[in-house]
This record gives sequence, structure tokens and C-alpha cells, in this order.
Amino acid sequence: MSMTAEKIAYRYENQIIERLEEVKDAYDPSEESDLELLQKAIRLVRLDSIQHLTFDETTNMISAWFDNAHVSQLTISLETTYTKCTCFDDECIHEIALLFYLHMQFYSLTEWMTDWRKKENELLQLTINSRTPEAWNATLKKLVEPLRKTDPSENPSLFVHKYSLISQKASPLYPFEWEWRPLFDLFYRLHCLRAAWPYVTSHLDQSEQSFAYGKWYVKNWLMEQLNRLEDSLESLSSKRRLFETDPFYDDLKTQVRDFTLEFEGLFNERFRVYRNFWQILFTDQLSQEKEWQLLNDYNTPEAYYLQTYFYILHGQYDELEQMDLQIGPENLKGWLPLAEMADYEDDTRALSILLHAMLPHIGPYFEQFIPRNEQTSFARKMDGLLESAEIDETIREGLFTVYGPAGVDVFTDFLIERERYREWAALIHRYRVSYEVAEASGLKLGMKDDPASMLPLLHTYAIQFIEEKNRQSYRRAGRIFKKMKTCAKKCGKTDFWNDYTTLIHEKYRRLRALMEEMEKGNLRL
Ligand SMILES: [Zn+2]
Repeated sequence: MSMTAEKIAYRYENQIIERLEEVKDAYDPSEESDLELLQKAIRLVRLDSIQHLTFDETTNMISAWFDNAHVSQLTISLETTYTKCTCFDDECIHEIALLFYLHMQFYSLTEWMTDWRKKENELLQLTINSRTPEAWNATLKKLVEPLRKTDPSENPSLFVHKYSLISQKASPLYPFEWEWRPLFDLFYRLHCLRAAWPYVTSHLDQSEQSFAYGKWYVKNWLMEQLNRLEDSLESLSSKRRLFETDPFYDDLKTQVRDFTLEFEGLFNERFRVYRNFWQILFTDQLSQEKEWQLLNDYNTPEAYYLQTYFYILHGQYDELEQMDLQIGPENLKGWLPLAEMADYEDDTRALSILLHAMLPHIGPYFEQFIPRNEQTSFARKMDGLLESAEIDETIREGLFTVYGPAGVDVFTDFLIERERYREWAALIHRYRVSYEVAEASGLKLGMKDDPASMLPLLHTYAIQFIEEKNRQSYRRAGRIFKKMKTCAKKCGKTDFWNDYTTLIHEKYRRLRALMEEMEKGNLRL
């Protein structure tokens, strides 16, 4: 149904005001490109470029057709973050133009622009007065404030835009001397991560609340921060350390510890930051021992993971074995990153100690906590860890029964590696794996090494294709019969095979097209 702009504006008055407030924060009037962009959006509205507007009552989607130079269609929901536009411009201005257009139904657009441009004069002129961690932190805290204020419902492209404005303002703050630059960068990245963390986790930790595209945006942003952090750590560790940097290092230790222990969500990523600092920059024994002691003051599972981490790092296997890991299905998720870390460091012994403690809980954890869409990758990852730790194979096999269908592709690889073709065929049969997948998995090897075991499986596929009853499927059945013939010949089952083809002939005599395919195959031995 079509609805007038006025009605839509009335219905979504609050949402429109809020979204335009976000635009106000995200765009900076002192930036030439931002100014141009908003002026362009205003021009679209003033020139009556919106030709047509519809509202869908069932999906609550608004669609607007713009016509200037070329036609673009924007579809947007003011109840979710959904936005789609056919313009493919790097920065689509249609969303902002539509918001302006709706806003204009009740308010003055000129006033909005004046308000926004006032910001120009209010913007803080950020400077750093002295070279101390306190001065750096105070300025950076102000600089990243817009990230901290970002509401989780805000569109990820706006979030990324805000961040790029912050980055532009950050660059003149970097110290001039190259010895100091990476150190300042570490401070800057940690401030960004901490300020953006609630936004980042709300998009990446609670899968159902964010659209896939928005998630991709946020994930990329996070990966970029983590990579830059690693680059700066590497470049700092390769330089001779200046004596004056000591207080900065101490401050970083506190910041990293706080970030890893006091923040919530995405523990894997927080742990990655922690590990990078302690394995690239703070590598001396004394600092690490001191850090281990400090972790005692935190009575949290995460602090306990970090203490375990140092045991692994120092190869303290006795301590590791004597630790009461208190593992259960409900906290296995926290221990997994440690197992992965031990695997990454090729520390088979530590990995084996951890995995033995985890073993009884893997099945219940899988059944209670792993969502269906992650089960296959979990089964593969878990089996990979057990293999690296050289855990008894019967235990690994036992877990395949727990994984069920999610573990089939790992289990088939497992059986083929051990040349257990009969069991492989039974597994494929049991889970009704498609012929294409079976062919890509181990069919060829099975036909070579254990042709007799392949016969019943191939028979099932041939009958399946016959029952599809078309020329194409008969042809495929014919090809499978040829494969069966090869198998029968290889294992000397000539009589069986000739009886079998007679039986098939009798049973499907009336399917003339199939008979033709079978004759072409010259099946008798
Ligand atoms: Zn557009």
C-alpha cells in the first residue's frame, strides 16, 4: 500500500530524529567531503528527486524511487538496521536524503543544517601537552568518545565512518620520532578497542541481532585493529628499548590486563590481544612472573585461564597437571582457546594435559551448547586438536558417534586414512550421503583397495538413480553399473555379477531407456 510521506514521518517521528542525530555525530562539518555529501543530500530533497514512496505494512519497509541523472531505488526499515540501495555508490546519499525528506514534513531542514554546522566551532582542538602516559590517555579518551557513544542499533557503515574521522584526527597526534610512534599506536588501538567494545560485541556475539552484511563490516574493523596492534608490537620489539618508555610499558600492562579481564564477550579476541602483548613485547621472565602474581587478585575464571596460559608458555607441565582446572560442559568454551594456543605453539604435551581434562565434557558440551550451524566446524576443529595431542584413536572414534551427521565428513576422512573402506561405505550408507559427495570422498580408493565392500553401496546409488526415472538419471545408473562391474571383476565375483545383471534386467525390463543404457555399457562378464 502506498502511504504519504507525512504519514510515514508521523509514524516514525522518533526514529527519524534519532537517526538524524546519528548522522549529526558521524559527519564532521569541518571535513570538506562530509559537508559536500550532506549538501548533495539536501539538494536531492530540494529538487524533488523523490518520485515515488511506498510503505509495506507487513515488512515495515519503506521504498523510495529517486530520479536525478539516473534512477535509484532505496529500501529501508526504520525499525531495524536494514538498508538497501540500487545506486552502488561508495557512499550512498539516498538514505540520508530520505531521512531529510521525512524530517522536513514537520521540521525545518535549514535549522537542522545550522545546528550541525555549529559543531564545527565546538570541536575540541586536541593536543597533547606532555609526554606521559596520563597525558596520552586523557587525549585519546576524548578522541575516541564518539565510538563509546555509539548505540548498538546504529548502522555499521556509520560506525566505520566515525572511526575514519577519528583516525584522521589521530594522525597529527602521533609523536614525531619513529621510536615513539608504534608505542603511541598501541595506546591509540587499545583506546579504540575499549571504546568500541560494547558495539563490536553486540554485533559479533549475538548473532541473531545483526544482519550478515553489518556483521561483516564490524568483523573487518575488528580484524584491522588486531592486525595493526600486532604490527606495532612487532616493530616495537625489534627496536632497542628506551629507558624513558618504562612508565608507558607499565601503563600498557594495566590496560591490557583490564581489557582482557574486565570486558565482556569475544574472549578469544581479548585473549589474542593479551597473548600478543606478552609474547611479543613483555617477554622477560621477571615481568611475566609479576603478572602471574597480579592475576591472583582477580577471582575470575578468565584470570585462571591467563595463569594457565603462563604455565603453558613456560612449559610448567607439573604445575599444569596439578592445577584443578574445574572443567565442565558449561565452561569448556573458555578452555578451548587455551587448547588452541597450545596447539598453535606446537606444545603437544600441554595440549594433551588440557584435552585429557576436557575429554569427559566434550560430548555434553557439543550437545548442549553448540548451535546447529556451528556443529560441523566444531567437530572438525575438536578432532584436529585431539589428533595433534595424539589422543587414543578409539576415543576420537567414540566422539564421532556424538557428533552424528555433523561429524560425517571428518569421520569419512578418518576412516579413509586408515583404509577402513568397509566401515566407510557403511557410514556413507547410514547417513545417506549423496553420490557426488561419496565420489569426492573415498569411492575411488575404496574401489581400488576393497572392491567387494563398494558393491552394496554402489547398488544403492544405482537404484536411487533408476527411481528418478529420466534419461539423465538412467545414464548415471548405467555408469554406476559399469563401476560395479569393475569391482566384481576385481574381486572375482563373476557368477554373482552375471546373476545380478540378469535380475536387474528382469526387474526393469519395461524401462526401455534404462535397458538401452545398460546395453551400451556391455555389462556382462
Ligand atoms: Zn543510494
